[in-house]
Amino acid sequence: MAIDGKILISGAGIAGLTLAVLLKEHGHDPLVVEQDAALPSEGYMMDFFGSGWDVAQRMGLTGALRSLRYPIDALQFVDDSGVIYASVPIARVARALGENYVYLRRSDLVRILHERAQSLGVEIRFGTEIAELDDTGERVHVTFDDGSARDFALVFGADGVHSGVRHLVFGDESQFARYLGAYVAAFHLAEHDFPVGRAMKLHEETDRVAAYYPLDDKRLDATYVFRHDEVDVPRGERLAVVQEAYAGAGWIGEKMLDAYHGSEPIFFDTLTQIAMPRWSRGRVALLGDACGCLTLLAGQGSHMAMAGAYVIARELERYNGNYAAAFTAYEAKLRPAVAKRQEDAATFAKVFIPSAHSRPWLRRLVIKVIFSPLVMPFVFKAFGAKSVLEGYS
Ligand SMILES: Cc1cc2nc3c(=O)[nH]c(=O)nc-3n(C[C@H](O)[C@H](O)[C@H](O)COP(=O)(O)OP(=O)(O)OC[C@H]3O[C@@H](n4cnc5c(N)ncnc54)[C@H](O)[C@@H]3O)c2cc1C
Repeated sequence: MAIDGKILISGAGIAGLTLAVLLKEHGHDPLVVEQDAALPSEGYMMDFFGSGWDVAQRMGLTGALRSLRYPIDALQFVDDSGVIYASVPIARVARALGENYVYLRRSDLVRILHERAQSLGVEIRFGTEIAELDDTGERVHVTFDDGSARDFALVFGADGVHSGVRHLVFGDESQFARYLGAYVAAFHLAEHDFPVGRAMKLHEETDRVAAYYPLDDKRLDATYVFRHDEVDVPRGERLAVVQEAYAGAGWIGEKMLDAYHGSEPIFFDTLTQIAMPRWSRGRVALLGDACGCLTLLAGQGSHMAMAGAYVIARELERYNGNYAAAFTAYEAKLRPAVAKRQEDAATFAKVFIPSAHSRPWLRRLVIKVIFSPLVMPFVFKAFGAKSVLEGYS
């Protein structure tokens, strides 16, 4: 029983584009709709390895990933004056991950996936959202926000942590959201002269952490993570919230915000996981952050987004279009791995940002031990170096 009809994917992000490429390669006819008007040109920095690397390798994308170049030779922890107290060569991290590792911006990964999708002729409609969805059992009748309507054989929600498909099919986000007690904001400076050097610099203070990533001689990305009560922060007030949280911040924490010319951070959100009892209903299934957001603290959200897409495509093939059996197999395969990473991230959230009770000397000791050449491979092994697709041919 092959899938009879077009497949709709909501979200041209990491999960959505990976799924679109794999479905197209397997002979399906996906349509991708993306709420944004265009691909992102900026994006926060990410670590990429493990399950994400495995999927990228199976898709033949590792050449494009390895060709990305950023002037980051080390991960360095600095104090309030910028003095380095721990330095980890990136080559050591890469070695611990079997050389299957890159630093990249989310926008790089989306661009690489989009290029592949385009080369295959995947249809992508930017500036479009699903407004209504009606699963009749035989078909899913979808109405888009421009008023047009069409029937689809299957619909996938790959539209991120605040998924619109999830809202339409499963209801309000609050049922599934787990707030981890902090906010994240990302910034991009087109020109800077901060003393970051050729390193990703991490600076931590009570209730706030900042990471800085040089992109070349001039450009700098920064990610700020800070403790905050969960409140509604309207657009237009986001930058002010970050400025308030980093008032008086040491090293370049406050100065970087003074130098920022944007009216909003390029990314701003709560640190919120999504945990759901089911990832599919009828002919609709969710993948990536939409059903299993880990948060940045797991450092593997993009890996699991790609793994989810891979497993869905493979299971649809295995069950020859029996989508119910494929969706059951997809959840059985991925749910334990997602749950484990969510638990790890929730535990890590309690210590990632220093609190008033933290002992700086103890944190520095732990950092040095974790990133030492002998211990690091075991840490990665415990936290995601092994692909969830290992043995899945
Ligand atoms: C600061 C930060 C650092 C991170 N670091 C890492 C890391 O080091 N390693 C790692 O693996 N992961 C990391 N992550 C997590 C990773 O970015 C996510 O897990 C990953 O992007 C999830 O992919 P996705 O495709 O599910 O969702 P997204 O990448 O969020 O893509 C969702 C897409 O859907 C679109 N969309 C949203 N709503 C709609 C709608 N209603 N209709 C149509 N389209 C819609 C969005 O515009 C977007 O294009 C980090 C996250 C953050 C915030």
